[in-house]
Amino acid sequence: MTDRLMSLANHPLGGKLVKLLGLPSPIPLARNLSAYSAHPLTERHIAIFGRGYAHFAIEQALLQGGAKSAVNEGPLNGIVFDASGLNKSTDLNQVYQLLQGNLKRLLPNGRLLVVAQNPQHCDGIEAAAIARGLEGFVKSIGKEIGKKGATANLVYVQQNLLSTLQWPILFFMGERCTYVSGQAINLCHGSAEIDVPNDQVLTGKIALVTGAARGIGAETAARLAQEGAKVICLDVPQAEEALNETSLAIGGLPFLLDISAKDSDKLLAEFLRKQGGVDIVIHNAGITRDKTFANMPEHFWQQVMSVNLAAIMRINSTLLGENILRDNGRIVCLSSISGIAGNFGQSNYALSKAALIGYVDQLAGQLNARGITINAVAPGFIETPMTAQIPFMTREFGRRLNSLKQGGQPRDVAELICMLSSPGAFGISGNTVRVCGQALLGA
Ligand code: NAD
Repeated sequence: MTDRLMSLANHPLGGKLVKLLGLPSPIPLARNLSAYSAHPLTERHIAIFGRGYAHFAIEQALLQGGAKSAVNEGPLNGIVFDASGLNKSTDLNQVYQLLQGNLKRLLPNGRLLVVAQNPQHCDGIEAAAIARGLEGFVKSIGKEIGKKGATANLVYVQQNLLSTLQWPILFFMGERCTYVSGQAINLCHGSAEIDVPNDQVLTGKIALVTGAARGIGAETAARLAQEGAKVICLDVPQAEEALNETSLAIGGLPFLLDISAKDSDKLLAEFLRKQGGVDIVIHNAGITRDKTFANMPEHFWQQVMSVNLAAIMRINSTLLGENILRDNGRIVCLSSISGIAGNFGQSNYALSKAALIGYVDQLAGQLNARGITINAVAPGFIETPMTAQIPFMTREFGRRLNSLKQGGQPRDVAELICMLSSPGAFGISGNTVRVCGQALLGA
């Protein structure tokens, strides 16, 4: 859907009017629409400030990405702040001394990434408090630099897990985390899969995307296919025509199934077994049945729980139990910021989406031994057929109430899902990552 305010704000005359009226002035966001390349940070000027145990790993990741080192002067596409050496509250002066002046060098669509000790595994309470405090810092900076289309994020990593750092650094410093800002992710024990390809990363992988006929699901299927995956595109029988179009366009395989049907897990397992198993499962299909709780008919409640939650847990249980999801597999569940903040008229939807956050958190540890990761992605306001149906004024609020002052594109969600589905994401599990332009809701 066209963003008329953005068109107006970026027109010479319209821009003046927008300022005069005190309206938000969103700027066009940079997006990399090509497939992954071996050196995704080529031509990007990136500086590292701070020094701790993560320094060498950060340097290596940027070098491998092809970034140009630019510590001393000039405009910057990105800043990585290595906070892994901060242990005492007096060390926090470094945050001010090293970043305050240099942040002004950040270009539009620039990136700030802070790498810090994991608060759960710090040596002492003071260090843990500092590590946690950096989240407040990153979220505040995200709000300040968002008007430039820039993002700020945080990665927590322990000293013995530095090999997990490369993939998130390439993502957060490049042009694919366009609508991801104000996020903190925890890196964990990944599989021993260190030999990670840099392009066509999903060649030889079989991926399943539910709800693939349109919106975020269709875009995700296309993005995974772009990286070489063979994609099984699943949707309800009523969506047959659109599903066939999606699958044909990407050389995928359509599969018509209502995931809320009682035997959906068995039917799906049978289909996937014939393909030789599956490596990536994206639980994208989801529905809303909005009404205030007082006025909600019971079938609204049941339908949402059945599609958004019960079906996902039942399917995972069968695919994992029967080893149809192969070792080093990836599962991504689509949650929502409604599940984080709650939303008027969405008690059923918010419950189901919040439950997914708890679900990935609980299940992640059990899957470690097989190298399987599970994460949730929580979109904010994304321009899809689902959000096009929201009444105009509510839609405008939803779109603007974030640091980037605009809605995200399905591609932005697909990029995050693709990053989490890739072999390089072996150290990211049990996380919920929002792709919401740092929405104020639940922030
Ligand atoms: P959409 O309504 O455009 O597409 C959802 C797809 O899922 C449709 O093709 C639909 O036919 C399919 N589907 C629904 N029920 C199904 C079932 N029982 N079995 C199989 N397929 C089924 O939705 P979207 O906007 O692309 O959202 C995709 C996911 O992202 C959903 O889980 C949604 O809750 C979540 N999400 C979206 C937004 C947003 O702004 N669009 C925000 C937060 C979360």
